[in-house]
Amino acid sequence: MKIKTDFLIIGSGISGLSLALKLSKLLPDEKLLLITKESLHQSSTYYAQGGIACVSNSSDNFEKHIKDTLIAGDGLCNENIVRKIITQAPERLDELIDLGVEFSRNDDGEYDLGQEGGHSERRILRVNDQTGQSIETTLIDNVKKLNNIEIKEKWCGVNLYVKDLKCYGAYVLDQESEEIHNIAAKSTILASGGAGKIYLYTTNPDVVSGDGIAMAYRAGAMISNMEFYQFHPTCLYHPYAKSFLITEAMRGEGAILKDIRGNEFMENYHPRKDLAPRDIVSRAIDAELKKSGDDYVYLDIASFKDSNFIKSHFPGIYEKCLEFNIDITKESIPVVPAAHYCCGGVMAGIDGTTEIKNLYVIGEAACTDFHGANRLASNSLLEGLVSAYECATYLSEHASNLRTKEFPEWEVGNAVPSTEAVVITQNWDEIRMLMQNFVGIVKSDTRLKRALKRMNIFSEEIDYYYWNYKVDKNLVELRNLSMVAELLIRCALSRKESRGTHFNENHPKKLDLARNSYIKRPW
Ligand SMILES: Cc1cc2nc3c(=O)[nH]c(=O)nc-3n(C[C@H](O)[C@H](O)[C@H](O)COP(=O)(O)OP(=O)(O)OC[C@H]3O[C@@H](n4cnc5c(N)ncnc54)[C@H](O)[C@@H]3O)c2cc1C
Repeated sequence: MKIKTDFLIIGSGISGLSLALKLSKLLPDEKLLLITKESLHQSSTYYAQGGIACVSNSSDNFEKHIKDTLIAGDGLCNENIVRKIITQAPERLDELIDLGVEFSRNDDGEYDLGQEGGHSERRILRVNDQTGQSIETTLIDNVKKLNNIEIKEKWCGVNLYVKDLKCYGAYVLDQESEEIHNIAAKSTILASGGAGKIYLYTTNPDVVSGDGIAMAYRAGAMISNMEFYQFHPTCLYHPYAKSFLITEAMRGEGAILKDIRGNEFMENYHPRKDLAPRDIVSRAIDAELKKSGDDYVYLDIASFKDSNFIKSHFPGIYEKCLEFNIDITKESIPVVPAAHYCCGGVMAGIDGTTEIKNLYVIGEAACTDFHGANRLASNSLLEGLVSAYECATYLSEHASNLRTKEFPEWEVGNAVPSTEAVVITQNWDEIRMLMQNFVGIVKSDTRLKRALKRMNIFSEEIDYYYWNYKVDKNLVELRNLSMVAELLIRCALSRKESRGTHFNENHPKKLDLARNSYIKRPW
């Protein structure tokens, strides 16, 4: 089917939904089509627990928040971008509150601000430990009220149509009819999130397979800093607990990491102990596990806080752990580090502008130089909000007088339905295992080179499958996942130092000159 719209938004997390809301108000006569791969709420946003960083108490100020962000970013943040995002946080948060998000307050009626690793002040606004769920559902409720936004669930972006570095729209798979639609738009905005599913252990939901980053790369956009994948130190370790995160806020409230014999170890790694930046805590756990051969470490809050405090501050985690017979008010929680946040992505301005005309990228899929080599906790929801606002403003000023132009329909050729789905699951599992073991928290030149060789073989196989069989969502995801994994390895190989979340044991020192890594499709 051929579809024409004014703005095509791909993704329904905080960035896509916020953009849709703002744009719909700025341009009420234009048509917006928002597509999402599964149901609307399926996104990293929905699962965010900690909250949003925003200066909101009298002992805090913007300079402190900026400084903490720059320290975490380890020399690769763009200070102008950092300043722009952090100083407009209160305004963007007020808008969220006006939409209906009710951040937790203490008995005095003030915001009950959380503390997280790397922050010098309490500045995390949260809705208990379910901040993301509250934001996502509030945004969805508001978007559904607007009649110039059309929403399509289970529509999966496959490829952009780009000619002479201009984007005309995208090919989109409708998973119900199994048809590939040709959607022409004046502007196409990728708000498709990160790429956690390239790793075996991740906190990200299944929809987060790097689709936007791979689509933009194939279309000729510049990709930057993919080697900086942030691992969250504390993902619940249990065979049936898929991707469940234990928020850093728990360490902010006094929880302590211990090995399975009960020994605390963080004081051996950093002066801020359990509240050290995430990469340090993840590497410390990784080192402890490699040394001991254990499968997990413990996070202990039960010894430090009473049951009522734990239940009222962490109700979501309490309930979830109980499902696995772990009572966190009485016992320690088994945890492992897991891939959490993609600091790199498609090179874009904070307004989403890219090197490709009419293509915009916002949220976790973008690399705006806000996070640099390592993201400060709870800064990403904030970036999603601000970049959506800036992108909507830019589009309303620059894109409304453009014209939507048609482009060729998808060619099915001789593709036949797949008879060997096992090829997909096999490759998927192998790639994720390879990334975890060879391209994980601690990298080495030998492992990276070996991983790249293996990825070349996978890519060939997947390409063959892609061109000869009918495209379905699993194949789209596998193709993107393998492409993003390869981009990450190539970025990592190009960096001959260790910085931020990137640690290579052959180059353990930081170079004096801080530089971004860039990668672009050769034509
Ligand atoms: C468990 C967890 C906890 C977190 N906690 C915090 C926190 O406390 N504070 C904080 O600041 N950050 C946190 N983060 C990070 C933060 O949630 C994300 O960085 C942020 O939500 C990303 O928003 P986004 O809109 O860019 O992408 P997402 O929220 O991931 O949304 C991406 C959307 O794109 C859709 N999509 C993807 N590919 C396609 C495709 N091909 N076609 C159509 N649709 C597609 C997905 O279905 C989804 O709707 C957390 C992340 C996780 C996973």
